[in-house]
Amino acid sequence: MTSVDVSVRSDVGAVRHVNEDSLLAADPVFVVADGMGGHARGDAASRTAVETLAASVPSGTLPTPDEVIAAIDEANAAVRALSGADESGVAVAGTTLTGVVRVRDPESGDEPRWMVVNVGDSRVYQWDGHVLQQLSVDHSAVQEMLDAGLITAEQALVHPERNVITRALGAEDLVDTDVLILPIEGHQTFLICSDGLTKELTDEQISGILTDVRGDHAADALVEAAVEAGGRDNVTVVVVESLAA
Ligand code: MN
Repeated sequence: MTSVDVSVRSDVGAVRHVNEDSLLAADPVFVVADGMGGHARGDAASRTAVETLAASVPSGTLPTPDEVIAAIDEANAAVRALSGADESGVAVAGTTLTGVVRVRDPESGDEPRWMVVNVGDSRVYQWDGHVLQQLSVDHSAVQEMLDAGLITAEQALVHPERNVITRALGAEDLVDTDVLILPIEGHQTFLICSDGLTKELTDEQISGILTDVRGDHAADALVEAAVEAGGRDNVTVVVVESLAA
């Protein structure tokens, strides 16, 4: 049996007037969505994505990875339907979608696994009590420049295009979702967050908070620290702790 504890928090931040982030934390689905788009559609986009996912993968079920991908495809279509056929560019509603889903692997006798999914620049990290490791790879302009060796990690943090993402739900008819399958074993902690957290706090600051604050208050402490550090964007955090016995 695996027990899963989760702590969540979403905050509009210190500058913006609308929280365009949404989250879903109903076992087996733990995701963050960071919406964008003109005509105040960002909040509708992220909400539509998580609501579609919640309906397709009901809590208490254990889906296959294929079923999760199908649910994300469905969420993509639902977000796309928010935009008119004649709209393009910033008028189009879009959202990131990033997180972990507890799945069963039909290729190994329905063994349970963690499935990391990502579209956009929200992130999934694994925290082992010492090291904070980013599991997702950002779909962003600066990540592409980093990969090409054109800029350094330090330059990426302040680059003028640091908010430009290269993949989103709602942007195209078909969405390409990054997938990583992990075993469920021992004590595992996943941090899922929107960029409002990682653009305000360093990995060292995040690690320090995860070390000092346990359990239900981890998400609160992280979000409050990001808002205090400037809170220039909406900040959303889901911390998932699983214990396999
Ligand atoms: Mn954001």
